[in-house]
Amino acid sequence: MKRSVAIVGGGASALFLAVSLDTSKYKVTIYERNKTLGRKFLVAGKGGFNLTHSEPVNMLTARYTPIDFLHSTITRFDNQHFRDWLASIGIQTFVGSSKRVYPIKGIKPIEVLKAVLNILEEKEVQIKTEHTWMGWDEDNTLIFNKNTSIKADFVIFALGGGSWKVTGSDGLWQSFFEEKNIKTVPFQASNCAFKIEWNQDFIVKHEGTPLKNIAIRCNDNIQKGEVVITKFGLEGNGIYGLSPQIRASFLKEGVATIYLDFKSVWTLSILQKKIENAPSRNMGQVLKKTIKLSPAAIHIIKSKLSKTDYLNPERLAFYIKNLPLTIIDTSPIDEAISTVGGIDRNEVDPNFQFKQLPDHFCIGEMLDWDTPTGGYLLQACYSMGLYLGEYLNQQTRLSH
Ligand SMILES: Cc1cc2nc3c(=O)[nH]c(=O)nc-3n(C[C@H](O)[C@H](O)[C@H](O)COP(=O)(O)OP(=O)(O)OC[C@H]3O[C@@H](n4cnc5c(N)ncnc54)[C@H](O)[C@@H]3O)c2cc1C
Repeated sequence: MKRSVAIVGGGASALFLAVSLDTSKYKVTIYERNKTLGRKFLVAGKGGFNLTHSEPVNMLTARYTPIDFLHSTITRFDNQHFRDWLASIGIQTFVGSSKRVYPIKGIKPIEVLKAVLNILEEKEVQIKTEHTWMGWDEDNTLIFNKNTSIKADFVIFALGGGSWKVTGSDGLWQSFFEEKNIKTVPFQASNCAFKIEWNQDFIVKHEGTPLKNIAIRCNDNIQKGEVVITKFGLEGNGIYGLSPQIRASFLKEGVATIYLDFKSVWTLSILQKKIENAPSRNMGQVLKKTIKLSPAAIHIIKSKLSKTDYLNPERLAFYIKNLPLTIIDTSPIDEAISTVGGIDRNEVDPNFQFKQLPDHFCIGEMLDWDTPTGGYLLQACYSMGLYLGEYLNQQTRLSH
């Protein structure tokens, strides 16, 4: 008799696990609270659908915090593996100028999702929608709404993080695990906007303006990219990747200081020479015409510097490359692209099996790890899904 696998939650990691399971061995069922699967996967397409990132594996694995938690998982099923697999199901990808990997032009997230769902259909994976998991009863039977209870040989939780509740990932499952004495870590926003107290005059002029090609430093970590000025503060890939460092500063000091480098392509001495040798002595003109800073960048710099520093080429050059800004908060959790927190990493073994609950596993964003946006989140879901799939396919134990 086939053994049964119940996958609770039907997002990215559940789908990747299900496609990799050997259905000649297992009767696989996905239980999802929504009417459809993969709703967060679909919103991931908004503003650029990064399936993975193309950098070499040693750099890829270094993007995850803590660095060792997903190392062997991602090395086993890496970004090239993911791209090859996508190609095998008809989803060709390309590497953008940012080195992020996108589906080729014309392929929308819904088509990627459909290609995955087709495989599940071919593999006869059962899909039970509108099934909300509500905890366990005394003998570890899974309790769902509509008075349904389910027992399976293997149970895999893939319930997602705690942001974008509208997609179904509300994180309310934490209490069920706590009742079982499985430690959870409170959710915090990651890859989110950060709050800065701009002055009114600045925000009226520059709300919605991007700061392009900048580098931002926080606690010796540097992120290059673009950020957008918002009423709330700053958001965008130029700052999302610093989420772990900013959160660490909050924990230690209550606030965080970031340093903006508006001219990361030039060294400090080159920049200083350009300012000194500029044809104009009007600093506003020098910054605009010679250094080619945007009006928003010039406004930030001018508002933060004393007149003496602003008129001194050495000091001015220093601040163009090291402008401190104070961050006072993160965006609300629900608005974050991802969350940290969830199941404490120490509760699972290297195959993502709960140490206290044999044959029960947990994958995806519901575990406490972090990574920047740019394809790394979905890469981790893919790697974890396939890694666990491979492990389960190797199990030879007979049915209970
Ligand atoms: C706006 C946005 C843009 C993004 N863009 C990208 C991107 O371009 N690249 C990238 O790599 N990542 C991106 N991400 C992140 C990525 O989508 C997530 O990290 C990924 O979907 C997490 O997968 P998961 O399977 O762990 O959880 P989810 O995809 O969140 O799936 C969890 C599932 O569990 C279900 N569920 C929850 N509780 C229950 C319950 N009690 N009973 C039954 N079912 C339940 C939910 O309904 C959900 O379907 C983006 C995220 C957002 C919000």
